[in-house]
Amino acid sequence: MKMMEEKLKIVKIFKGTVIDHIDAGYALTILNLTGLDEVKNLITIGVNVSSHKYHTKDIIKIENVFLNETQMQQISILSPNATISLIESNNVIEKKKVKLPNIIKKLILCVNQTCISNSEEPISTEFMVLEEKPLKIQCIYCERIYKLEEIVFTSKEKKEKIVKQRILL
Ligand SMILES: [Zn+2]
Repeated sequence: MKMMEEKLKIVKIFKGTVIDHIDAGYALTILNLTGLDEVKNLITIGVNVSSHKYHTKDIIKIENVFLNETQMQQISILSPNATISLIESNNVIEKKKVKLPNIIKKLILCVNQTCISNSEEPISTEFMVLEEKPLKIQCIYCERIYKLEEIVFTSKEKKEKIVKQRILL
């Protein structure tokens, strides 16, 4: 019965994207990082929703918006178990699990000031994924290792939000 009630609390959408099985507590960080918090569409967020599979989870539903490849990669870094469903006319037309790439390109900054990725003619960052969960990645240039909570995302258009995003993490 409890599961039924929980389901009803989160409204269905007619068309758009459902990001499900987000690690509990990461929904707001994902919205902020992907820039989805700036869309004008209706967004429904469930935080700490009961889940059979993972005990509790977060869920995001966004009307009339489909994610791009960068946004899906950002989500895979924060919540490697997340699933993304595309909804058309109330039906799931496609459902996929996000996939964390072996090498993460451009999405993350290396905070090591002497790293070649921060040189005067900066080159794009590349991080090798050493462990998926809990996340551990390594800069391929200076070999510095980062855990999830140490990561600083590049999010080009939204540099001013990095401070906020770090607090949320
Ligand atoms: Zn580096």
